[in-house]
This record gives sequence, C-alpha cells and structure tokens, in this order.
Amino acid sequence: MNIEVIWSNFLTSIKEQITSLAFDTWFKDTKLIELKDGKAKIVVPMHIHKKHLLENYKEMIENTLNLVTGTNFEIEFILEEELNNESDIDIDVDMIGVPAAKNKIESNLNPKYLFENFIVGESNRFAHAAALSVAENPGKMYNPLFIYGKSGLGKTHLMHAIGNYILNNSNKNVLYVTSDQFIEDFVGINKKDKKGTNFDYVDYFKSKYRNVDVLIIDDIQFLGSATQTQQEFFHTFNKLYDDNKQIIISSDRSPDDLKILEDRLRTRFSWGLTVNIFPPDLELRKNILIKKITGQSIGNNVPEEVIEYIANNCQSDVRQLEGAVTRLFAFATMMNGSDITLDLAIDALKDYLNKTVGTKNSVQRIQRVVADYYQISVDDLKSKKRHASVAYPRQIAMYLTRTLTDESFPKIGIEFGGRDHSTVIHSVEKITEEMKKNKQLKNLITTLKEQVK
Ligand code: ADP
Ligand code: MG
Repeated sequence: MNIEVIWSNFLTSIKEQITSLAFDTWFKDTKLIELKDGKAKIVVPMHIHKKHLLENYKEMIENTLNLVTGTNFEIEFILEEELNNESDIDIDVDMIGVPAAKNKIESNLNPKYLFENFIVGESNRFAHAAALSVAENPGKMYNPLFIYGKSGLGKTHLMHAIGNYILNNSNKNVLYVTSDQFIEDFVGINKKDKKGTNFDYVDYFKSKYRNVDVLIIDDIQFLGSATQTQQEFFHTFNKLYDDNKQIIISSDRSPDDLKILEDRLRTRFSWGLTVNIFPPDLELRKNILIKKITGQSIGNNVPEEVIEYIANNCQSDVRQLEGAVTRLFAFATMMNGSDITLDLAIDALKDYLNKTVGTKNSVQRIQRVVADYYQISVDDLKSKKRHASVAYPRQIAMYLTRTLTDESFPKIGIEFGGRDHSTVIHSVEKITEEMKKNKQLKNLITTLKEQVK
C-alpha cells in the first residue's frame, strides 16, 4: 500500500473516533512521510500539534496505524519546518470527566460563542489550537493561557468557547469575568455591611474566585494600576495555580507590554502559553462573511462580488465585518427585501466603510460596470479568454482601474485573473493612445467613469 493511501485510510478511521472539531484542529493538516525501521514519521504544522497529539492521542494513533498497516509503528512527530528535533514528553493522558448536573456557580458564559462557529484561518490558527487544547485538558496543558491581540479579533469569543466546551464536557466550575467585574467584586470586600462587618463580602469574594476550576479573565489591561486589586488578583492567581486550576487571560497587548501591572504578575502570565491573534487575511475575511451571510434567511444567493467587496473594504477586524453584514441586511430589508446586489451593498455600506479604502477598492465596481456595458460576465474579464469580445473590454477595465483607483500595476494584474503587471501596463498604454485618435472611445470612457462613480 502506498504511503498516501495508508494515511488517507488512517485519517478516515480517526475521523470516526473523534469529534469533527478535534479532527479538523489536530489531524486535518498532518501527513505521513515515512514508514521505516518500525518508525512512522508524521509531519504536523505547529509545535502545539505535536505536543497535543502526543499527550492526548498517542495511543489512538498507534492503534489506528496498527489497524491500517497490520504492523506496530513507533510514532514520531516532525514540524513542517524543523526536522528531528523532538523532545521527550511524559505522556499523561487525563480525560475530562463525564458531563454531570451543573452546579450553582454562575459562569457568565455566552452560549453563542462556541468553537463550532469560530472560523479558523492563518491569523488565528495557533490561538484556536491552544484554546482547544486547554478546553480539552483544563489545568493540564498550558497554564495560564494568555491570549492577546487587537480589539475585535475574537479573543472574547475564544475564551467563551473554552468555557462552554468545559462546561458541556465535564462537571468543572467555570467563571468568566471581565477585569472590570473583578475590580467591582473586590471593591465590595472593603465595604461594610449594615452591621459594620464585611465578612459576608470577603466570603463572597473568596468563594466566588477561589473555588472555581477554570477562571477566565477578559481584558486584563483594565485591571489598571489599582495596586490593591492587583495584589488580590495575584493571590487569587497563586491559589488557583497551585491547585492546578486553569487560568485564561486576555489582553489587547502582550504581557511584556502590560506595563501597568506589577512585574511579578507579568512574569506569572508567561509561565504558561502566550498566543497572539492577528488581523484576519483576505481568505479568512471571506470565509467569515460567507458563514455569517449564509446563516441568515435572506442570505442565500448573495453574489460572490458582494463578499469580495466587503472583504476588501473591511480589513481591520472581525467585528467590523459583522457590522457590515448587519447593515447590509437591515438595508436590504428596508428596501422591501430586494436582492442583495453589488450596487445595493455599495449603497448600504457607503457611510460605514472607511471612505479612503472605499474608493480605493472599487475594482469590483469597475469590473461590474464594464462587464454590464459589454454584456459579458465579470468572470470573463478575469478569465484567460483572448477573444476580442472579452480582451478589449478587459483592457478598458484595466485602464479605468488604473485611472480611478490607487491600485498598482501588479495588484491590478491580480484582480484581473492573475495577469502579469506588464500586461496591465500594455493595456493602459494602448487605451491611452487610442483615446487620442478615437473620439468615440473617449466618450465611452467618460460615460463609464460616470457610471463607476
Ligand atoms: P475581541 O474580544 O478580540 O475584541 P470578540 O471575541 O468580541 O473580539 O469578537 C468580535 C466579534 O467577531 C464577535 O461577535 C465574534 O463572534 C466575532 N468573531 C471574531 N473572530 C471570529 C472568527 N474567527 N469566526 C467567527 N466569528 C468571529
Ligand atoms: Mg473582547
């Protein structure tokens, strides 16, 4: 049997044994590269995969491989970029307990934020894997887990996803709080009740924070300079940490940059695993949009160019993408549920999208206008077709893109089906020359420009 067939059979069998979430996260991007001398060499994308697979799935992998090949192999994980550099890791598989009746602690978790609806791309892949790893082994794999990144990139979503996962798969107590809430609770300690004592508050605080199995603190940067609160947090942290309770923290900056916090706290944050979430790339933005749009009843049949348009114009974060979708649907509903077209999207989002980016990225709009004029499709414009009925409109569209946007020649080439920049330069020069001699063409260009605007 060839090695690819073996691995494909192996993966099929693994898929039947675990959840699709676990499969997609831990197995989907693995590859068997060698079966020799009783050893199976498996390539994995990141170190976190290696560690997680070894600590959680080693036995399953060995048994399954044995089933597929009929032979026992010792497994060896290799990183994509680094070969033969594995460390010895103690294997200590510890399954999460079975679900049990929930107890009284209010977890503050939002059941909407789940791993199932968190879309993974290059920019958040590591954070997602780390989060799932912690969710599967609270207190065991990475403690604390520190997630940081700019606002709107999914930190809160991931933290709730961890909490919900643990809640649904074990009988552990989970508590999610923002650092604001922590401060508020702590300030309560110093209040006196009617009888002049504060025992109730102290008890309340201690039982709330020190008896949890998983403590999630969101936006730790707001813990602020209140030294007393920091001290209390420090004690809470130590107590939970010593008891092997999982701590998960998020922040808009790395522990090193949390200058407002005491050094001893920052040091502790880096004891576990620190992961960074980056802004989503184009592909992830599109995937998120597709998911959010098709999830809505009027979201079917939204043309690809609308997705492209929004993805190109909302580059900063996921919250902005969601805002655009909400506006688009509200607008379409207001227009009596009319079809969502590119024109409608441009209209709906004109105030919402950053103006400069909005005009810069009107390539799709130009392509639409030119395609409509010549009664061909936008896909034709981007295709490899060389027939004059397509090639000429394409040259005109490239010319318009160059004159109406700030796009570079290479970028325009990419927008037109991945053409070389010299092709774009040639088209622009050709149309420029022709306009000097051909009055009709000149008028046409003026008309098209007006339509684009
Ligand atoms: P942060 O806490 O980093 O500011 P949030 O977790 O609040 O960001 O995310 C903002 C919004 O974007 C939320 O509604 C969240 O569900 C959504 N979101 C962020 N990342 C993703 C993703 N990868 N897949 C799906 N939705 C996401
Ligand atoms: Mg947040």
